[in-house]
Amino acid sequence: MIQSLLIANRGEIACRIIRTAREMGIRTVAVYSDADTKALHVREADEAVHIGPSPARESYLVGDKIIAAAKATGAEAIHPGYGFLSENAAFAQAVIDAGLIWVGPKPASITAMGLKDAAKKLMADAGVPVTPGYMGENQDPAFLAEQAADIGYPVLIKAVAGGGGKGMRKVDSAADFADALASCQREAAASFGNDHVLIEKYILTPRHIEVQVFGDTHGNVVHLFERDCSLQRRHQKVIEEAPAPGMDEATRAELCAAAVRAAKAVDYVGAGTIEFIADASEGLRADRIWFMEMNTRLQVEHPVTEEITGVDLVEWQLRVASGEPIPLTQDELAIDGWAMEARLYAEDPATGFLPSTGSLDLFQLPDHIGRVDTGVYEGAEVSPFYDPMIAKLIAHGEDRDEARELLSEMLEDSAIWPVRTNARFLIRALDHPDFAAGAVDTGLIGRDGEAMSAAPEPSPQALTKAAMAMVPASPHAGLRLNAPPVRTAPFLLDGKRVDVTLHGPGADNPAPAMLVAETGAVWQLTPWRAKGGAGDGAGDGDILAPMPGKVIAVDVAAGDRVARGQKLLTLEAMKMEHGLTAPFDGVVAELNVAAGAQVQVEALLVRVEPEA
Ligand code: ADP
Repeated sequence: MIQSLLIANRGEIACRIIRTAREMGIRTVAVYSDADTKALHVREADEAVHIGPSPARESYLVGDKIIAAAKATGAEAIHPGYGFLSENAAFAQAVIDAGLIWVGPKPASITAMGLKDAAKKLMADAGVPVTPGYMGENQDPAFLAEQAADIGYPVLIKAVAGGGGKGMRKVDSAADFADALASCQREAAASFGNDHVLIEKYILTPRHIEVQVFGDTHGNVVHLFERDCSLQRRHQKVIEEAPAPGMDEATRAELCAAAVRAAKAVDYVGAGTIEFIADASEGLRADRIWFMEMNTRLQVEHPVTEEITGVDLVEWQLRVASGEPIPLTQDELAIDGWAMEARLYAEDPATGFLPSTGSLDLFQLPDHIGRVDTGVYEGAEVSPFYDPMIAKLIAHGEDRDEARELLSEMLEDSAIWPVRTNARFLIRALDHPDFAAGAVDTGLIGRDGEAMSAAPEPSPQALTKAAMAMVPASPHAGLRLNAPPVRTAPFLLDGKRVDVTLHGPGADNPAPAMLVAETGAVWQLTPWRAKGGAGDGAGDGDILAPMPGKVIAVDVAAGDRVARGQKLLTLEAMKMEHGLTAPFDGVVAELNVAAGAQVQVEALLVRVEPEA
């Protein structure tokens, strides 16, 4: 068995891997960048090695530095986690060439599954059904347009090297094809250095179903059943569950057998996921589920599989990498109950899901119910350099309703501030009648997401309670929550004026600020000062660059009147476009950038002031 392990990752997955390694008595080595000096994974590992500046391409993506860190600390093996170098065959090979154990599949398996077109061809040859479409070499736009017409609209153009939901364009009609192709190729070249695309039939009522597989060096391959990741936002998973709602035993058997065939076709060792897309317009049917791609690593959503099977997948990875056979046979694996996971992000749904960075002054997650996988702690910083996922909340119940209700309760019990999170968005998604009924397709958030994204408002009761705690009663005036309303007093709630009904008279010197936490959301309440009151909420109308990037469009001019939620400008950062919107109704008091400007993180771009 491996005695020491370097984890080439950060955040929750590094912490997750360290936890199991520790339980197995394995010494752990973390690596970290400048921004992560105080990160949780650094604190939790037995040892930690600094590998460079904050940008991932100068630290977490530099294979040589990571291998050198393993050598320097005497680590025998490297676990890549997910993302970063996890699906980089050249890095896997370099690890092996350095005489270290790679906790992952053979580099050749990664390569075989690395490009979507080659993977689909390989799978078709192995008898695995693949999504109908064109996946050939010819990239001539006119030829591709003919293929799209043959497949029949709507079609999906996909970058063969794409990942993480990037490099995809849905096209509804021939008239839109040329533009969509050009924009997809541009994004693919910029993001993946490869502009080849394939064309697929766009599946209507699509559900994302994936099967966890596991192989060892003794030729065994098992599956650990399916997960359903259909609740997505812009092709990125939001809530995942296992098993899949509406999956009958016969369909499951056929799907999982296809997944095992797929893994065997690439001689697969370790944890992998075969992703399928299902046309669920008539429920889940084996003849309407097609291979999409294979992820040759541990997935973000692996905990739901762990919860329903009782298997620790990281333990299996470490055992298999050490040369042991898979600990259980297929017959010994069974599904127990239902599990659901929500991805908690430091982002603000009300401003177009912009990442929210800064210090986690308040960071409370449930500790008595469910499972929490996190990579941060109270007082830690959320930096703009990496993925803003700060925790995964995982609930396990006897059935789907129980898991769903428990997950909702876990989200309601979380309180994070001043960093914004998507907790309330997730609670609303769990409550959506279609989700509750298990009738989710990948377009649900696209259709109904606006209501889910709206900024949460505290209830009048919560506001009253917080305001009354701020204005404690003068000694001679009895102040009771259930006393009749006596007066209405103005306050600032996150910089916006609110009038709160108070019961009984209060003291003259209110507390300077109070946090109001309710069902997954937190607000700051401060006293209203008649003159320049809004100024008290200073900063709330300040639109800062959430990360370094380039301003690609400015939609307002100084002096313009703007409505809450109105787009002010578009920032391109981390290869994605982010719209920055007005936080409240007001006037553009300051505009510091023009289209084309490069901006640093936290640069003041625009300042919105409430109208006098
Ligand atoms: P990535 O590698 O970027 O994650 P995938 O190929 O896994 O891309 O697709 C991501 C998501 O896009 C899927 O989960 C699904 O929601 C949607 N999708 C992919 N292919 C199709 C298709 N042919 N029809 C409809 N939706 C699709």
